[in-house]
Amino acid sequence: MATHISPQADRLSSHDPSTGDLVGTVPIHTPAEVDAAVARARVASQSWGALSFEARTEELVAFRKAIAASADELAAIIHRENGKPELEALTEVMMSLSHLAHATQHAPDAMASRKVGVGLLANFRATVSYHPLGVIGVIGPWNYPMFTPMGSISYALAAGNAVVWKPSELTPLVAVKLAEIAQKTFALAHLLQVVTGAGATGAALAKAAVDKVAFTGSAATGRRVMIAAAERLTPVLLELGGKDPMIVADDADVEKAAEACVYGALTNSGQACISVERVYVADAIHDRFVAAVVEQVKQLKVGGDDGHLGAMTSDLQVKIVRDHLDDAVAKGAKVLTGGSAAISGNYIQPTVLTDVTHDMKVMVDETFGPIIPIQRVASIDEAVRLANDTVYGLGSSVFGKHAREIAERLRAGMTAVNAVMAFSGIPGLPFGGVGDSGFGRIHGDEGIREFTRVKSTAEQAFALPINMMSMNQPKNALAQMRGMIKQLYGGGVVAKAGDFLRKLRG
Ligand code: NAD
Repeated sequence: MATHISPQADRLSSHDPSTGDLVGTVPIHTPAEVDAAVARARVASQSWGALSFEARTEELVAFRKAIAASADELAAIIHRENGKPELEALTEVMMSLSHLAHATQHAPDAMASRKVGVGLLANFRATVSYHPLGVIGVIGPWNYPMFTPMGSISYALAAGNAVVWKPSELTPLVAVKLAEIAQKTFALAHLLQVVTGAGATGAALAKAAVDKVAFTGSAATGRRVMIAAAERLTPVLLELGGKDPMIVADDADVEKAAEACVYGALTNSGQACISVERVYVADAIHDRFVAAVVEQVKQLKVGGDDGHLGAMTSDLQVKIVRDHLDDAVAKGAKVLTGGSAAISGNYIQPTVLTDVTHDMKVMVDETFGPIIPIQRVASIDEAVRLANDTVYGLGSSVFGKHAREIAERLRAGMTAVNAVMAFSGIPGLPFGGVGDSGFGRIHGDEGIREFTRVKSTAEQAFALPINMMSMNQPKNALAQMRGMIKQLYGGGVVAKAGDFLRKLRG
């Protein structure tokens, strides 16, 4: 619903998914225009990367303040283009700011040079240093059209890079507004540029002469991005989909777990990569938990100015949710509230399903809708086995007195303990997944270093009588080497090479 592109058009239009009204139009940038933007970014990156951290911090703080001053306007655009309630849109702006502030503050420490151990080369000094990569291509999704790309953009800029950003064709206007703010704030006009269009524009950016592609979107598109980037051997960071499990043990606080489950599954109408997508509940508390969830879900309002859930952003997403619901019901799932029959246009009533199994799409494929499928389990071992029975591995959550230990057993990039989704709101925690959820990390120190080139420097500090890096070796070199191997590594404890060599030096 939200986007229309006619075959000959050189513009695409963004529509409000709740009304179908036109929100605005943007150009469809051609591959040549994408290349030109990357070339301009290359020039900007050279100046930006050469600045001191203090100078960059000054400009990034100004950018943060300018975004904060436009928070209402940005939230209004997100609300209209994406369909989410205004409160959720404003929360998204605030979360984006928290990452920009964190990245700005922590880049100097995360990128500080550090000395490392020298091993055998005891007469050397060894240093690891971090340098900006240059130009980062960011390709973003529509579900969190500001927060998600800013999770890459903030860290890339703070690490000293320029950025070319291709937002989703469903939500391009918030990106255009941010680029406008950037242009007014930064001394370098091309430090953060936005190119707009659909998949072809994204593909052009993935193929362009960038130093890294930071992609957030579906696993299917992620694969295409990686193939396109492989042509130039451009490294990629892939933040893809998920099928996040929630485990509720029999000693969990049932009411609190139910409240968290309802939020985790239904915020943004379930259109979050870290939504609670499936729930495994211990047999002893299953019925109480289900009753609490259903009761809370029935209080929620869909649509309208005071609605808890907004319109789904796209027709396609509504179709996927309907398909998952119909498939589950056909295979024996019970609908306790909501359901396929309650879908009206782009509005989906939150739905609770029980009697679900891993034969159903709703338990294995990413649904990305306001659905809570709950499966009864006989033990924590069964819950862990089912939670790990997925090609994905993004977020997860566990409730109960021993939740931390259970969390250790989950194959996922992130776990919230007695909470849901909290890891995405803590800017110091690296964010990312395993398996089909992608690789690489945004947020935290790892997120800053993700956008750097690591440089290793070995500097000779003093000369030794034995120089292993010379063709001129003494006659007894072989015997000396044998002695060294025995002395250094032949014992239970690895001897210090420095002590041994100093002894030799006499
Ligand atoms: P999508 O894969 O359809 O599109 C993402 C972006 O890729 C869009 O900007 C699109 O125009 C662009 N694109 C499409 N074809 C392309 C191509 N061939 N080459 C390059 N770019 C191309 O994803 P979506 O529907 O916008 O977003 C929803 C998906 O994103 C879900 O799977 C969700 O889980 C995932 N997501 C993941 C995270 C995370 O951090 N892991 C965050 C948000 C969303």
